[in-house]
Amino acid sequence: MSVNNLVFFSQSQNTPYLSAQYNDLFRIDHFNSYTDWAVKKIIPGAFVIEGGDVNYITSTINAIRKDQEVFYTLCFVAGSVNSFDSYLVDGQLPSPLYLQEEINQVADLSESHKQVDNDITKAGRLIKYLWLRPKFILQPYHEWQCQRFYQYPLLDKLSNDATDSYKWLLTLANTKILEPLVLIDRQRECAFCRSSHLSFVDVCPNCRAIDIEMQSSLHCFTCGCVDIQEKFLQDGTLICPKCSTQLRHIGSDYDRPIENHGCQVCHQAFAEAEILVRCATCEKEMAPNDLISHKIYSWQLSDKGRTVAVRGAEVDMISSFDQLDFISRDLFVHDLDWLLTSSRRYPSIVFGLFGIYFANLPELAETMGHSRLLQMLESFAQRLRNMLRTPDLSARSSENLIWLLLPNTDEEGLRGFQVRIETSLESMQEESEYKLEARFMGISSAQVSSREDAELLLARFRSELI
Ligand SMILES: [Zn+2]
Ligand SMILES: [Zn+2]
Ligand SMILES: [Zn+2]
Repeated sequence: MSVNNLVFFSQSQNTPYLSAQYNDLFRIDHFNSYTDWAVKKIIPGAFVIEGGDVNYITSTINAIRKDQEVFYTLCFVAGSVNSFDSYLVDGQLPSPLYLQEEINQVADLSESHKQVDNDITKAGRLIKYLWLRPKFILQPYHEWQCQRFYQYPLLDKLSNDATDSYKWLLTLANTKILEPLVLIDRQRECAFCRSSHLSFVDVCPNCRAIDIEMQSSLHCFTCGCVDIQEKFLQDGTLICPKCSTQLRHIGSDYDRPIENHGCQVCHQAFAEAEILVRCATCEKEMAPNDLISHKIYSWQLSDKGRTVAVRGAEVDMISSFDQLDFISRDLFVHDLDWLLTSSRRYPSIVFGLFGIYFANLPELAETMGHSRLLQMLESFAQRLRNMLRTPDLSARSSENLIWLLLPNTDEEGLRGFQVRIETSLESMQEESEYKLEARFMGISSAQVSSREDAELLLARFRSELI
């Protein structure tokens, strides 16, 4: 990427009409189309697309965001742009000085972005795109013709495959790469196809016909007959059609039943019609209760996402330990402090603190590949899980350091624990050419100096392990 280069796309054969100041600050290369540009593949500080022609902008910006090399590059439009495409560009072409500032900022952030092979995965591409735009908010775009009303244009473009971007978004949210920012809308969707194009229709609760009508009915107290009002009317007086009693006083002779709807097909009278939902997309019918409620948020890159951006995928690796039910570091420190205080007062309270440090995760990730390393860590976590008892607590203080708090465990217990972990790790790696380099350290409550609190203890431990 060259920070002093601009690539200008316009359909015109003439040199672009950018003011002199742009020419003073940048070298400007002009292309008629992405295809022309792709021959030379000059990687600029920013792309500028001439505004006006909607189709031209759409095809150019789509091609850029799907390009493996420049998907993340700043891209401005000089002139009008349609609303969908505005989610894919970085706005209107700013003044030359401001443009230079923006380009420099992206270049700086790009320095700190861990390149590894992240760009190959769509999540890696998204993280990079967001990392380079610290204030970027992934906004849903509302379009009534769209099956679910909302779309995330950037996810659609960066995914490069036909997968449902909502599914991808769910994965990004579950792995905590993205975090929700603002609740934009909540809508109900079809239980079968998740379409939000639904119609609600009142039907007869008996035969489900739609031909129902409001009707004024009367209820004769003498014989209990319920029927429509017309049948009671005879020469201007109310006579029960069944028992012929003359009905004079509402409340004592007759009243109006709450069943004031009638079905024209099965003639059932009823108080409330049933509501049936019809999906306009898949044409299936369902009850309102069966609809799926869907919350639509705007999203941003999380702390974890930023960590992945600077450090590569190590954080994902260690997430395989999530099955250990980590508690937060703060809670862990709190519990450790509490146990320290208690054990000083009551010598019968003993516990052990155990640290596990993985020294070679980045190297292994490179030599054996992420997915195999992930499998290896997962099976280790599984074995560790089986060794822990319910009251044992675990916390993670950095991506490759795990703490365990083991109540009722003295020095001897800790030694035994370490031997079991080592044996288990060995047997697990017996046939593997790659070895997980794990360092262990245990200390029992009796060995802790009375001047050390939880924070100091963890800090000392950490410096000895790493
Ligand atoms: Zn009916
Ligand atoms: Zn009657
Ligand atoms: Zn449907």
